[in-house]
Amino acid sequence: MDQFTDFFRRLTDTSDWPPRWFCGNWTDFHGWLYIFSDLTVWLAYMAIPLILVRFVTLKKGVPMPSVFLLFGAFIMLCGATHLLDATMFWWPAYRLNALIRFLTGVVSIATVIALIRYFNEAIGLRTSGEYESELQFRQQAVQELSRSNQELQQFAYVASHDLQAPLKTIVNYLTLLEAKYGEQLDVDGRKLINTSTAAAGRMRTLINDLLDFSRVGSVAEFESVDMNALIAEILEEHQEEVKAANATVDLEPLPTLTAHRTDLKQVFQNLITNGLKYRLPNAATRLKIYATDEGKSYRFAVADNGIGIAPQHYERVFQIFQRLHSRTDYPGTGIGLATCKKIIDIYGGQIWLDSTPGVGTTFYLTIPKNIKTVQQYVQTDPLHSLNR
Ligand code: ADP
Repeated sequence: MDQFTDFFRRLTDTSDWPPRWFCGNWTDFHGWLYIFSDLTVWLAYMAIPLILVRFVTLKKGVPMPSVFLLFGAFIMLCGATHLLDATMFWWPAYRLNALIRFLTGVVSIATVIALIRYFNEAIGLRTSGEYESELQFRQQAVQELSRSNQELQQFAYVASHDLQAPLKTIVNYLTLLEAKYGEQLDVDGRKLINTSTAAAGRMRTLINDLLDFSRVGSVAEFESVDMNALIAEILEEHQEEVKAANATVDLEPLPTLTAHRTDLKQVFQNLITNGLKYRLPNAATRLKIYATDEGKSYRFAVADNGIGIAPQHYERVFQIFQRLHSRTDYPGTGIGLATCKKIIDIYGGQIWLDSTPGVGTTFYLTIPKNIKTVQQYVQTDPLHSLNR
């Protein structure tokens, strides 16, 4: 115990030993070679931890940064032992030297343990070559995907455009037929014409809905969209349905988003018109639209007091062409909610619903305040710019 306290009390005391120059027979060349080499190693060992610290602070998301810092401390202590070895030629602080060596030993063991733990994680990290080939593969996949997407969009456009023309002819001829020969037709004949006209109308709606669905995501430019004005515009355009449903709409103040206006209009138009359409008979319809600020995103809600949706259909209704009712009960194409989901997915948000059959349904959707589509991501991602 005495030795222990004495050691620390006389940590920098050099009176027990001669300076290293006087310990043995050193030639100037030999001594200065020793000193110069030790100082060089010390300088290099001091630079390594500085580089490591800078790397860890600049490079965000380095796995297990503590291993890097521990490794830096280990190298720095190794450097300190070399510095002391050089100074021993004039200043024989053997106690301090022993203490620094002891600390170096402890930190070395800790570094070894940390490295063993880090090993499995490090072995899973990609090398820049592996990363490069994966990036190339992904870029190729994105290119292929966008090409087939474009083809599909083109196909949907051409098909619907080309379908629209004969459809128009059919509707025109049906109208002509009715105008010219309507008087001469019996009840069954007129019924046939009416059914054909209604079917042609449904086909037009289906084609238009499909066109809207296929166009989603084709425009990248965003603008500032005041959601209050947008909802007011939708309600104005659907006044007749609002009146028919004897509906009151409770609209709370909504935020302004930076997004594609048509996309947002499609989403809220589908949700609002569904709220009006799937209403309970013999009850005044009530819609409530509100938004909550969730920090990085807004959460919107469109609630109705309509027929509701059974829990087993919560996911299904977002799939294209999935309808829970026959066309005779409620008209529709089964594309509206799929379009909403496609838009919200592209915006990096989420859409879901909560409902009680016979009481009402609330659709929730989150939209990030800073919407980043894949296209924008590719343009701003630092990894992509690094590889350019
Ligand atoms: P559509 O209304 O043209 O049938 P949607 O994709 O908009 O197609 O909706 C899919 C299905 O989800 C609807 O057929 C309907 O059964 C159900 N649904 C959608 N909105 C509501 C709602 N607000 N209340 C009850 N059911 C709904």
